[in-house]
Amino acid sequence: MADIIQLLPDHVANQIAAGEVVQRPASVVKELLENAIDANADTIKLIVKDAGKTLIQVIDNGKGMSTTDARLSFERHATSKIRTAEDLFSLNTKGFRGEALASIAAIAHVEMKTKQAQDELGTLLEIEGSTIKSQEVTVTPKGTSIAVKNLFFNIPARRNFLKSNNVELKHIIDEFHRVALAHPNIAFVMYHNGSENFNLPVSNYRQRVVNIFGGKTNEKLVPVEEETEVLKISGFVGKPEFAKRTKNEQFFFVNDRFIKSAYLNHAINSAYEGLLKDGSHPSYFLNLTVDPKTIDINIHPTKTEIKFDDEHTLYAILRSSVKHSLGQFNIAPVLDFERDMNLDTPYDYKNKNAATPRVDVDRSFNPFQDERTVSKANGFSSNSYKKEPAAQWESLYVGLESKGTKTDLNFSEVEFESEPETKSLFTKETSVETNQTTYQFHNKYIISTIKSGMMVLDQHRAHQRVLYEGFLKHLTVKEAVSQQLLFPLVLEFSSVEMEHLKELKEDLEHTGFVFSAFRAHQIEITGVPINVPESEVSIILEQLLSDVEQEVPDSNFSATDLLAKSMSKSLAIKTGQSLTRQEQEHLVNSLFACKEPSVSPTNRTTFITMSVDDFDKKFM
Ligand code: ADP
Ligand code: MG
Repeated sequence: MADIIQLLPDHVANQIAAGEVVQRPASVVKELLENAIDANADTIKLIVKDAGKTLIQVIDNGKGMSTTDARLSFERHATSKIRTAEDLFSLNTKGFRGEALASIAAIAHVEMKTKQAQDELGTLLEIEGSTIKSQEVTVTPKGTSIAVKNLFFNIPARRNFLKSNNVELKHIIDEFHRVALAHPNIAFVMYHNGSENFNLPVSNYRQRVVNIFGGKTNEKLVPVEEETEVLKISGFVGKPEFAKRTKNEQFFFVNDRFIKSAYLNHAINSAYEGLLKDGSHPSYFLNLTVDPKTIDINIHPTKTEIKFDDEHTLYAILRSSVKHSLGQFNIAPVLDFERDMNLDTPYDYKNKNAATPRVDVDRSFNPFQDERTVSKANGFSSNSYKKEPAAQWESLYVGLESKGTKTDLNFSEVEFESEPETKSLFTKETSVETNQTTYQFHNKYIISTIKSGMMVLDQHRAHQRVLYEGFLKHLTVKEAVSQQLLFPLVLEFSSVEMEHLKELKEDLEHTGFVFSAFRAHQIEITGVPINVPESEVSIILEQLLSDVEQEVPDSNFSATDLLAKSMSKSLAIKTGQSLTRQEQEHLVNSLFACKEPSVSPTNRTTFITMSVDDFDKKFM
């Protein structure tokens, strides 16, 4: 039989390799930025058009390339960064595979201009799908500019597979953040569609973090510094009260390279143990420096995962240093009996001023005054602790005219126990007590008796359904009621979050939000939906942003639905919340006034029923 094995032509091999290196425009951004850093640039400009689908250009003032190198750089396995396999164990550059430029050139139109400092003139190269179209001598400043146009022009399937511009731009910005955070000593500028998104001058690490994430970040940061034989840690963690719903502000860098590590992330979370609210994530920006010999970066093609020789030790040191920092800044108790004393840095107590302990006494306290005046003297207004239960729980359901819609219940299986029957058995006084048809248990479920037996509701899911249908109604009818805030509420967001908020603005207004300003990193709110407490606003918006990010928008993505889902999730009564009888009954009634009472907005069961027969069987 004839031989059938052939070597793949280079351009085919390159296209295949490109699939691994270049998943989306953001991958190109990462590779080009990293090359610029490896070329020792101190100013790097990123220019993006249409979320990278039309253009990605990186201009650096680094060392540039000779004409021969410029051509060679597009060959596969062409790298100036390693020569032998041993070099892999002492890497101090970002790249080393020599694959990126070859892969990018295989699937895009590339134009490169490059010049070395000592040369008069530079080189201009044009490549389309691995073929060199032209090579010229050109006038260009020192450094390299690579423009990547029409990504995936020759792989339509990949091009169609790209997500919306918003999603792709978010990935690009994420990569940009990662690179910029790892290199505060380099100035970065980023433009998208002609407008400047980021301008990050050379600065210290704290300023870099603040320049990226906004001015309010500064007060959140707690420094972490530790140096041991195996590991040096420097950077910041966020104060627990600023923990976020999203994991957007979690960054590990190992030897200046952004990495993902669930294991090290766990170390940090465990340092925050007991300090965070459920579902919130601490911010961290941590640089770990280890001996390059003790890590293997080679295990992942896009190089965001690395392998450490001694993960356990790193875990322990990291956890302990973060804990220590939180303690130092009076955020957590300093005493930690699990702490390994060998890892301790001796802190210089001599330099600390001893302060006389202070006891705060309310000098105006008079036990014979009546309660009202006492509380005033204490600086509390008396209604701050006297809640009015009715108003409280009713506010949970504002906007849902459950009474009116109750009649057109299309729910036939469940019949409620009719009141008059039971009433007649008892005297008027006792009937108030025994009329009870709902019970709450474990602050999680509500039992309601029904004619055929009983029904058990999941309070959180049921309330989500009630709120969800209410919000949807407002969003479509567009006549929400809002309450005006006494003082405008100013909230800070990152640029990516601001982009999402701008898109959701109109829908948010339909739920009752009133915005007085949208700035680069800030929004100003003057009105909120009537049932939303002011203190919850930032939580709701954060939850919403995290939901937007998780929901990969596609053709049938509906901002309205997402907003209704997200807000109902944030505002629904939680598991663990005890409800008065009135509240329980109101919840049951409102649920069955819904169009689809049996499932939560995310399609989870809201209630189950058990018939008397079911019970009878159990007692046989
Ligand atoms: P790698 O970075 O893994 O070496 P690349 O394909 O990204 O592989 O780049 C190939 C080579 O091209 C690099 O080793 C480097 O010598 C050269 N190069 C790429 N980009 C630049 C740049 N911006 N400035 C100077 N040299 C560059
Ligand atoms: Mg590279």
